[in-house]
Amino acid sequence: MVGRIMNSYVSHLEAAIDGTILPHDQIQRLHKDRPLWVRYDLDCAGRTLNRETLAARAPTLWRYRELLPLPLDEEPVSLGEGMSPLLPAPRLGDAIGLSDLWVKDESQLPTGSFKSRGLCVAVSMAKHFGIDRLAIPTAGNAGGAMAAYAARAGMEAFVFMPRDTPIINQIECVLAGAALYLVDGLISDCGAIVRNGVEATGWFDCSTLKEPYRIEGKKTMGLELAEQFDWTLPDVILYPTGGGTGLIGMWKAFAELKALGWLESEKLPRMVAVQSDGCAPIPRAFDSGERFATPWENAETCASGLRVPSAVGDFMILDAVRQSGGRAVAVPESQIVQAMHQAVTAEGISICPEAATCVLAAEQLLDTGHIGKDERVVLFNTGAAAKYVETVTLDLPEITDPASVDYERIVR
Ligand SMILES: *Cc1c(COP(=O)(O)O)cnc(C)c1O
Repeated sequence: MVGRIMNSYVSHLEAAIDGTILPHDQIQRLHKDRPLWVRYDLDCAGRTLNRETLAARAPTLWRYRELLPLPLDEEPVSLGEGMSPLLPAPRLGDAIGLSDLWVKDESQLPTGSFKSRGLCVAVSMAKHFGIDRLAIPTAGNAGGAMAAYAARAGMEAFVFMPRDTPIINQIECVLAGAALYLVDGLISDCGAIVRNGVEATGWFDCSTLKEPYRIEGKKTMGLELAEQFDWTLPDVILYPTGGGTGLIGMWKAFAELKALGWLESEKLPRMVAVQSDGCAPIPRAFDSGERFATPWENAETCASGLRVPSAVGDFMILDAVRQSGGRAVAVPESQIVQAMHQAVTAEGISICPEAATCVLAAEQLLDTGHIGKDERVVLFNTGAAAKYVETVTLDLPEITDPASVDYERIVR
């Protein structure tokens, strides 16, 4: 049986652009310069795994083992990632005007962002294929995550990031032993450096969507969401979109759950791709009805994970958004930090600037009637606020004489 060659339920890889089928027992990257899907024998997987057997498993993303590409008898490269909290957000909901708002809080994952989901699966697969040298272009968090998993696996890591990437991302790469290079340019320039170096260095290019496995890691957000809501999906998902791996992955997860027959209702969520108006190629393509996005000039946003002027999976994002009946929206860059502050104050959840764009998007979509006030809305908090030390500026009162404190002024 084809699906069992490697002791996994993977049946084949499929080119997203034209459906070409490729074998999965060797390294594959792109087809016609576009990404690949991992396809599974879901009938077979569904005979081993069901909702009840799943419930008894450990709370990491590896609980969905049969729906992941790593052969079942191989040890994953793991830092305990997955099963992030799904938190009700009533105060933030009140402030926005939503009665059933939830936050899927990815800030608590290893390296403080959901990038660990994709990279633990990609690094595990690289190890499976005998690769010991990895490279990645990054807007920040992906590099930190890859460096951590490479360290965990005992592999060499090479990271290329724009010079102005948040300092925490630089530190986490260096601490994890990666060779880090600061590049005078954007993530696309970093991408070219990695791509052009493949032959000379023999490294494995872990770029977003340029290998098929990061999507598989990120799709576990969708699997968890379904499981945490007792197999009933929300009405709307708000997703801060850079390369789009998470949105694409979740949409794939929902299709797989549907095929497995695990969902309580046929209705799937409306997927909303959110970007800053400082870098909004996806909303622009959505509005003009295009299937591919033209690169954004002079991309600039404090939400560094969203500074992706051109995404290799643009059509996959737009297809998912449109198939779901959702939208792609741009929100004002000038309001992101304030929305971040508002959200953390309201709930105590460590909301990153990327996720703060979704707070603004929720308000905008309520205004335009694209979201109803009583709909169940899930906002993805993709990273930890504390990683963005450059973004929040402080102007704090001081106590110069600890011996004479004016308490009335303090509690006023
Ligand atoms: C990378 C990143 C994003 C964008 O993720 P994609 O799935 O590539 O669109 C959003 N938020 C944070 C914090 C990120 O690091």
